[in-house]
Amino acid sequence: MMNKLSFFNKSNYAFTKEQKCKINHDLNASNITRIKLFLVSYMIFELVFILFNDIPYMMNPSFHAVWNDNRFFILHLIILFVSIIGIVLIKILGKYEECRVEKIYKLLIPILTSLLLSSMAIINGLDLAVHGNITSVFIANLIIFSAVILMRFPLNLVVYSIPFLVYIGGLVIFQHNVNSLISNGVNGLIYFLAVILISTVIYNNYYEKIAKNIILEETIFKLDYLSNHDILTGLLNRRCFSAQASEKMKILTETKKAAALILVDIDYFKDVNDKLGHPIGDIVLKETSRIFMEHIKPNDLITRWGGEEFLVFLFDTSIDEAYVIAEKIRVAIQDNVIVTDKIQIKITASFGISLLKDNFSESFDASYKSADVALYQAKEQGRNKVVIASLDM
Ligand code: GH3
Ligand code: MG
Ligand code: MG
Repeated sequence: MMNKLSFFNKSNYAFTKEQKCKINHDLNASNITRIKLFLVSYMIFELVFILFNDIPYMMNPSFHAVWNDNRFFILHLIILFVSIIGIVLIKILGKYEECRVEKIYKLLIPILTSLLLSSMAIINGLDLAVHGNITSVFIANLIIFSAVILMRFPLNLVVYSIPFLVYIGGLVIFQHNVNSLISNGVNGLIYFLAVILISTVIYNNYYEKIAKNIILEETIFKLDYLSNHDILTGLLNRRCFSAQASEKMKILTETKKAAALILVDIDYFKDVNDKLGHPIGDIVLKETSRIFMEHIKPNDLITRWGGEEFLVFLFDTSIDEAYVIAEKIRVAIQDNVIVTDKIQIKITASFGISLLKDNFSESFDASYKSADVALYQAKEQGRNKVVIASLDM
């Protein structure tokens, strides 16, 4: 099960390839929604700034602009374009099957993150040059990204290092006061380390959450399977068969159609066990189940009713059609050579058929009893036979 997490490792659990695929799929889907939120807000924000700050300033330099330099306009334009291109790319990729474009998303999200934050870092540097102070906008963006975008270590280190180096570059170029340069540099470094920490912790927690969900989902699926199937043969168990049969009988009652029951018992199965051993007996049961599965339609049901006894429910089937199907199965079992690593065997089975109609809920037990009597007759008549229950059975 899940081991204790070491800080920089997501999880020590040995996931299968499919599980890893599911986890990545979930992470990607979540990241796409998250980055879309950023892209749309950046797009709106930059558009507002360009329209109400940069353009009025460029047309009339006496306009009281917040960012009063043409270089800001270019950077706002770059961020606007990156946002729009990001949104368009995600829209286009959304049309493809997710697993085919998963690798592109894996590249796209870090690249967009790095590009947007690097542009912010350049604006930060320009702010320094033009206004002589450092706004915390870049740092705030860095922290928000680290908390929202899911990125594993050391990928986050690489992605956030680029804007951070741009930020340091801006400081070195534009900050001429050595004391301010050092203090801003040290502050920036502390924030940067915090960002890596936040991003890693958030990613690991999220990863663990999805991983646990996936394990839980799979466990529920397995439990569901186990509670409805026979472990040896994989056929429905009695309880599930009865539940599904009564659902089907309701439909048949409404549509006034018939169904047939076939009760099957392997001949001299005790001899197989006694002479060849229980494991070979189990192989015979599995092989026989496989033959049944090959002969029934999706709407039919089959269960391992008892040890070597099987019950088939044929949906919307007349007694004659049921006889034909039972005969086919009988011949298939009789002709099938069961090959094990030690021995080759052939077996036979006996069949009793009865009809189910009119009031299904009442007639199921009666019909089963008729099929049982017919099966007994098949055994009496020398086995490897199909017997239809007569009306008075
Ligand atoms: P008949 O032709 O009259 O049906 O004879 P039979 O030997 O098949 O009938 P019987 O009911 O006497 O034997 C059923 C045997 O099925 C007894 C039991 O050992 C075996 N059996 C029941 N469940 C299992 C199982 O899960 N695995 C194996 N290998 N054998 C099983
Ligand atoms: Mg039996
Ligand atoms: Mg038997």
